[in-house]
Amino acid sequence: MPTGVYKRTAACYGHKHSEEHKRKISESLKGHVVSAETKQKLREAATGHKYSAESKVKMSASAKRKPPVTEETKAKIRAVNLGKKNGPHTEETKAKMSVAHKGKKASEETKAKMSAALSGSNSYNWQGGISFEPYPPKFNKQLKQKIRERDGNVCQLCSKTREEEGRELTVHHIDYIKSHCNEDNLITLCSSCNSKINSDREAWTKHFQDDDRFESCHSE
Ligand SMILES: [Zn+2]
Repeated sequence: MPTGVYKRTAACYGHKHSEEHKRKISESLKGHVVSAETKQKLREAATGHKYSAESKVKMSASAKRKPPVTEETKAKIRAVNLGKKNGPHTEETKAKMSVAHKGKKASEETKAKMSAALSGSNSYNWQGGISFEPYPPKFNKQLKQKIRERDGNVCQLCSKTREEEGRELTVHHIDYIKSHCNEDNLITLCSSCNSKINSDREAWTKHFQDDDRFESCHSE
C-alpha cells in the first residue's frame, strides 16, 4: 500500500473520529449537572476573586433567606390583601378603570355620560320637560309684537329699551308654560333679564302675577 494513500485514509479517519468525539463530549455536557462547588470554582476563575470561607457562608445564608414562594405563602399573602382597602377591585371599579384607559374615545364617551347625568331631569334647572315643548302657533310674531307695544318696547324689569338692546326685546311667558299665550301671561323682557328669570322661577312667576297691570287683564 503506497504511503500516501494510507496517510490520506488515516487523516480521514482521524478527522471522522475527532467529529464523533466532539459530539460525544457535547452530549455528555448537556446532561451534566454542574455542582455548586464547580460553579463556585468557575465564578472564582471568571472573576479572579477568591471567596473566603466566611463569604461562602454568608452567600449561602443569603440564598436561604429568599426561598421560592410556596403555594402556602401565596395563599397567606392573598388572605392579607383581601382585608386591605386597596385590595381586589370591584366590578364597578374595574369598569371605570376600563373606560378610563380607553383613551380619547372613552373620554368622549365619559363626557357624554356626564352630560347625560347632568342634563334633563337631573339638572338643577329641570322644569319637567317644558323647555322641549314647541311654542304653539298662537305665539307668533304678531302676538309678540303686540305684547312689546303694550309694554312700550321696554324691559318690564330693568326698563331697558329696544334701542338700548340693539334688537327686539324678548316676550316671556310669566308661568313658563309655552302653551299659555294669554296676553296676561306674556311680558316684555330684555335678553339679560330673560336669562336672569330662568332661575328662581316660582318667585318670578309670583312677582309678575302680582303686578297690577295683569290684574286688569284678568278682569277683561
Ligand atoms: Zn331687562
